[in-house]
Amino acid sequence: MFSKILIANRGDIALRILRACKELEIKTVAVHSTADNEAMHVRLADESVCIGPAHSSKSYLNIPSIITAAQLVGADAIHPGVGFLSENSSFAEIVKAHDIKFIGPKIKHLKDMGDKIKAKEIAKKIGLPLVPGSKGVVKDIQNAKKEIQRIGLPILIKASAGGGGKGMKIVQSIDEIEIAFTSAKNEARAAFGNDEVYIEKYLSNPRHIEVQIIGDTFGNVFHLGERECSIQRNHQKLIEEAPSPALTKDEREYICNLSASAARDMQYESLGTIEFLYEDGKFYFIEMNTRLQVEHPITEAITGKDIVKEQIKIAANHKLEWKQKDIKFFGHAIECRINAEDPKTFMPSPGKINQFHSAGGLGIRIDSGIYSGYNIPPYYDSLIAKLIAHGNNRKDCILKLKQAIKEMVIEPIPSTLELHENLLENPDIINGNFDIKWLEQTYLNGK
Ligand code: ADP
Repeated sequence: MFSKILIANRGDIALRILRACKELEIKTVAVHSTADNEAMHVRLADESVCIGPAHSSKSYLNIPSIITAAQLVGADAIHPGVGFLSENSSFAEIVKAHDIKFIGPKIKHLKDMGDKIKAKEIAKKIGLPLVPGSKGVVKDIQNAKKEIQRIGLPILIKASAGGGGKGMKIVQSIDEIEIAFTSAKNEARAAFGNDEVYIEKYLSNPRHIEVQIIGDTFGNVFHLGERECSIQRNHQKLIEEAPSPALTKDEREYICNLSASAARDMQYESLGTIEFLYEDGKFYFIEMNTRLQVEHPITEAITGKDIVKEQIKIAANHKLEWKQKDIKFFGHAIECRINAEDPKTFMPSPGKINQFHSAGGLGIRIDSGIYSGYNIPPYYDSLIAKLIAHGNNRKDCILKLKQAIKEMVIEPIPSTLELHENLLENPDIINGNFDIKWLEQTYLNGK
């Protein structure tokens, strides 16, 4: 087992990894920017190293600084967390070249799945159903028009290096193609330094369903059930739940087993998530995330497995101690992402938290690095807390969440806590009657 892990991340996820390390009796090293001197992950780690100024390109994305920090403190592994460098194959290669273990999948899988066009090719080969779309990169507007004729409108232009919904443009009518194509390419170049785009049929009312995969270095590859993440704004998830209220038992078994066998074919290691859109009883692969996901706590709630600890153990070449049949699912879990954003305009609302009171009780989990007196820096993602409830069933879970939201105080900064409180009263949410467009087109549009 590792003796010291450097956590190359911040916020709730850095804290989450730190907790797993403590339970495995592994020493922790926090790295942080100057804006995060007072952050909880820094306070709780055994050691900490400041790796640069506030801007993430100079700190959390600064590979030489992170490697130097790891060497200085003698860390034998690096956990990249979520976002930042977590899916960066060059980072993983550099870590390896310095004889440090990168806690994540094989470099090949980071590379293959980071290129969404390649990912779709592989998915097709291993038998996953795809969204109809272009065969590969669409080079210019001329080719885009040809693809549209073949696929039919509406279509979605997507960035090959995509992530976080960036570089995506919907085209509803053919006269929109020129502007959409150019702006998708520009956005992709700015966000990822790669302007390759491809085209997919734009599904009109899909739900987002994803399957959690775990694999060890001995060829044991299993699924840990599905999550539904259809409550989205700007292609960003706001609420996630497990299991999905939309699937029948047969559909669940089909997609989970298919995903596990696809990952087994790839000889996948570590944690991964295979994402699908689901419409009219059919699944369509969209991408595979080769890392821990923000929404992993709901899977942990319904399976009782600590998947971050498992991920660390796998990186240290431990065999998974269970088989697929040993993974049992119980109850229902929902996660509300609490962002430092105005609940109506969604404008970021960084600033000082003067009062923080956490919720509690059976089945309530809060993953967060905030505290009374904490100053939310303006430089990073606005996620400040994840509120997770686990109940015997969906209704029980919603009731627990409602009470937890009432108990929680985050003052005076505006946050999406209020939005969640209202959403949980909505009949469509209560009945599980939504798709990926529901929040923006039905709920927010009607306000
Ligand atoms: P990213 O990696 O940028 O997050 P994804 O491919 O995972 O991109 O898609 C993010 C979200 O965008 C999905 O959850 C869904 O809401 C929407 N989306 C993606 N592809 C399609 C599609 N073909 N039709 C309709 N919506 C889509």
